[in-house]
Amino acid sequence: MATQPESAFARDESRRRALIVEDEEPIRELLTLHLGLGGFDCVGVGDGRQALERLQAESFDLLVLDISLPGLDGLSLCRAVRRSGPNMTIPIIMLTARSEESDKVLGLEGGADDYLTKPFGVREFMARTAAIMRRREGWGPGPQYANRRIISVAGIRIDPARRRVTCDGREVALTPQEFSLLYLLASNPDIVFSREELLEKVWDQEVFVTERGVDTLVKRLRRKVEIDPAHPTRVVTERGAGYKFSGSEEAR
Ligand code: CA
Repeated sequence: MATQPESAFARDESRRRALIVEDEEPIRELLTLHLGLGGFDCVGVGDGRQALERLQAESFDLLVLDISLPGLDGLSLCRAVRRSGPNMTIPIIMLTARSEESDKVLGLEGGADDYLTKPFGVREFMARTAAIMRRREGWGPGPQYANRRIISVAGIRIDPARRRVTCDGREVALTPQEFSLLYLLASNPDIVFSREELLEKVWDQEVFVTERGVDTLVKRLRRKVEIDPAHPTRVVTERGAGYKFSGSEEAR
């Protein structure tokens, strides 16, 4: 048997890679087809544990994750991916059944960037994916990234061009939304943003997230940038108004 030329195995760098973790084969195949048309090379997996093995071994550009899976559930998988390995900041879209609606908040807390409730239309799925990838690769369509200036405030340094964040000198890995939120707040220290404003500025219009979703994102961000997330001194709550980044040293 002739050996395959090496190039047959080489990764095409112009195409992005998506991992679709879904045990319902028709959905997996539908998403594989449409993401394929959208420029993704897809790997489909129907078991949570197998998916985790792959996610710990190789890096992907997008993760589509069903919540109820054999082997390991989607929420646990999501948390595990965010905790360690080569996909800590990967964009994650969660799929939930209507009966699992309450899992949505848990999904966002666990590190998902967006979620879709089944049954969903392929067009909506692709629009959400495009929104997440835009944010990922262009660092958001918003004007807040226009000049890509480095922000350095209250022990936090953000380099948007390199997408690097250091917190008291230690590098922290942020998901696309966490990054957008921190950049917006830290580049406007002491300015209070309402949840509604944050929804508008951090998420794209196509993405539907509730104000509770803002709170869960803030909670996630605090775990990464606060010394004591239970008593935040950087991303602080303005009761009844929203959130702000505290730029004053005396707050610490
Ligand atoms: Ca399922």
